[in-house]
Amino acid sequence: MLNVKRAYNFNAGPSALPLSVIEKAQAELADFKGLGMSVMEISHRSKDFDAVHNQTISLMKELFRIPENYEVLFLQGGASLQFAMVPLNFLAPGKKAAYCLTGSWSEKAFKEAKIVGDAYEAASSKDTNYSYIPALSALKYDQDSAYLHITTNNTIFGTEWQEYPETGSVPLIADMSSDILSRPVDISKFSLIYAGAQKNLGPSGVTLVIARRDLLEKANPKLLTMLSYGTHVKNNSMFNTPPTFGIYMMGLVLQWVKEQGGVDAIYKHNVAKAALVYDTIDASEGFYKGHARPDSRSLMNITFRLGSEELEKKFLAEAKTAGFVGLNGHRSVGGCRASAYNAVPYEACQALKDFMIKFQKENN
Ligand SMILES: *Cc1c(COP(=O)(O)O)cnc(C)c1O
Repeated sequence: MLNVKRAYNFNAGPSALPLSVIEKAQAELADFKGLGMSVMEISHRSKDFDAVHNQTISLMKELFRIPENYEVLFLQGGASLQFAMVPLNFLAPGKKAAYCLTGSWSEKAFKEAKIVGDAYEAASSKDTNYSYIPALSALKYDQDSAYLHITTNNTIFGTEWQEYPETGSVPLIADMSSDILSRPVDISKFSLIYAGAQKNLGPSGVTLVIARRDLLEKANPKLLTMLSYGTHVKNNSMFNTPPTFGIYMMGLVLQWVKEQGGVDAIYKHNVAKAALVYDTIDASEGFYKGHARPDSRSLMNITFRLGSEELEKKFLAEAKTAGFVGLNGHRSVGGCRASAYNAVPYEACQALKDFMIKFQKENN
């Protein structure tokens, strides 16, 4: 794929994939490992796919430093099905589940939990249109709660937890869809982590679940087969046909993360990328205004506004002409959002910075 013109892709999800991953997939698409077939055309029960599947699991364990007492699953239905599976499996009658409400996705998770059972609010930042992450000391939950649920990165509002609560005997469950593998995480603090793949891990269609066995042992055993974590654990995520191509692509993305130096190196890179844009916002003397409170800023989704909607329209139109994709903010915040996931190159953020400075000069 020589000389291909790649966009400055700031899409919120599905989002940028590393070019080398796209090229590798392309190179082995028609003939995977000499089989005369693509990876999409082979049986999920074959030893060739089994190798892909288990290699992807072991890379995930290695790169994210997942301890031995955790299971790694590849499910379907997106993070949105996890909103339901979590309470179905772990919110027993007579128990209550605590939710931190830091944006639209956590509100959606909360809504599903309330359909299943007794769920309550542990904290919320709705008062300022979710512009911050509540202080750990402000979380209010009972020690006998079934679990505490957090959304580690709020994709729409551009906020991210900088540290995680110590929940003691209360299982901590996290939706990490939009910042998984972007920074090192002490997995042992969490009982369960889930993430749709389409932001940092690969194409849409696969959902990663990392779950500690002591929590899995407490799951409701009387569930419909496909909704029970136990089914997927027992069958190494192959109770039914898994999303084989997505798992293969995730494996290639993880291999790429490894080649970049692993999660620590990726994190440093992400800090430098986000700083290019945040520093531009901060140096603009109010021309650009960040939505997130500075202590809650996300490294993945950078949300900002301009002085008027008219100016924002002009900014987005000129950005589009200049080759930038996906800078429109979500309608619940308005303005602009630059999603700088792992696969977004430093050069794209540098180009955005240059564009923002130029636009300000021309429109101030
Ligand atoms: C994108 C996203 C979701 C939704 O994921 P689906 O896979 O589309 O269900 C949920 N939570 C967060 C934090 C997200 O960023």
